[in-house]
Amino acid sequence: MEIIHVAAECFPMAKVGGLADVVGALPKYQIQLGHLAKVVMPMHKTSFLHANEWDVAYKGEMFMQHQQIHYTIIKEKSNALGFDLYCVDILGLLDRESVYGYEDDQYRYIAFQMAVVDWMSQWQHQPDVVHVHDYHAGLIPFFMRYCQAYTHLSSIKTVLTVHNAQYQGWMDWTFANYFPAFDQWKSGMLEWNNQINPLASAIKCADKVTTVSATYMQELMNQANGLEQLFQYEQGKCTGIINGIDYDIWNPATDSRLLHHFDVQTAATGKQLNKKELCETFGFDIKLPLIIFIGRLVGEKAADLLPDAIHQSFERYYNQFNVLVLGNGNPAIENALSSIRERWYGYYHSQITYNETLSHQMYAGADFLLMPSRVEPCGLNQLYAMRYGTIPIVRRTGGLNDTVLDVGDGGYGICFNQASLLDIVYSIGRAIELYQHQELTSSIRQKMMTINNSWNKSAAEYIELYYSIYR
Ligand code: ADP
Repeated sequence: MEIIHVAAECFPMAKVGGLADVVGALPKYQIQLGHLAKVVMPMHKTSFLHANEWDVAYKGEMFMQHQQIHYTIIKEKSNALGFDLYCVDILGLLDRESVYGYEDDQYRYIAFQMAVVDWMSQWQHQPDVVHVHDYHAGLIPFFMRYCQAYTHLSSIKTVLTVHNAQYQGWMDWTFANYFPAFDQWKSGMLEWNNQINPLASAIKCADKVTTVSATYMQELMNQANGLEQLFQYEQGKCTGIINGIDYDIWNPATDSRLLHHFDVQTAATGKQLNKKELCETFGFDIKLPLIIFIGRLVGEKAADLLPDAIHQSFERYYNQFNVLVLGNGNPAIENALSSIRERWYGYYHSQITYNETLSHQMYAGADFLLMPSRVEPCGLNQLYAMRYGTIPIVRRTGGLNDTVLDVGDGGYGICFNQASLLDIVYSIGRAIELYQHQELTSSIRQKMMTINNSWNKSAAEYIELYYSIYR
């Protein structure tokens, strides 16, 4: 089977969050299962772009309204990711350093999607499935099915994976002027609440819709940032498939970003050595449990609660634990997390930045990882933490609910129900208590580190899903 993944991010070419990790790993595992999988993404000007060699695979042009747009498809030469990676370059539009955050993002992503479909329409040989990820690729099923120039693509099956339904790519109807010509009576397939909604459009037009955990799929029926009724209506074609993790990258025995490697057998000493590095860098006492938070500093992650939760926990359990936060996002949250640094100097530190290497070192050296998320479609951090022997403290939501079982239920994590100060402070207390019982902690570590959360199983589930529409 031949699968084309289309997404805005793909690790290590460009990463903002978990979407990149998924798109950078799933195709590789699908190839291992004997299929052909490729990725198409915009050409972001990242260090990966500059560090690798590229071939020009295609040059084309298209019209956006009356403007002729030239696009180039480049292909990474050395198969560095284990699959063919193609990037769409449009001079002045896609060749920028950040993935998102520009004023003309709507226009940029329309152009990207149009170029992808235009390029595919030139192929002699058609793929079996076009698998689009999130709203940045959400117009593609519509373009393939309803745009007059591309009707020959309409029989190709399409699958949408919703990594995050909070972001939907809304745009007003004037943007439809840029789209390739389509029958106006089909415009309902683009629309939700009187706007063009690319995510809603993909839910309507794709043959199958997946989300990245079963619990998140259920949650979307009641809470989907305005799309609840659409998810309810389309539930017959919706499934939850949990994300896996890329064991080639996330393996504490081989991870090139770690200063000290370890496996299940050597975890006690290996983790301690990694913790020592962190404690020396950030001025912590190694004897105390180290609790970390890694992630985007946004409301979905309940990052706005962190400053108060950390502050109250220190007041309650003074001198009993350390906290290290790595993240960036909302400036108010960034400031609040920085502003408590002085007050809890020696026990708390925040790194307000994106730092891939430090994140690996933190998963390896910490004792606990805190994820109080309000919304967590799958969550990869808790999977990485468990693989690196770090006990997750999570709110029972989305994928966190599906992947972490509380120690009280014979599991390997600390789980709580509400994204509230009370629950977070209480759970930090449970972590401090658990840390006193080193034998129990190390048996939990053994258990966590041997859970198989690799992509093997989920990649096979996606293949099964493709076959269910392909045959
Ligand atoms: P989301 O995609 O919602 O941001 P996920 O848990 O699915 O959340 O994935 C987050 C990914 O991004 C993980 O690989 C995590 O380690 C990484 N990450 C998030 N913030 C940072 C940061 N500031 N520095 C390094 N890595 C980060």
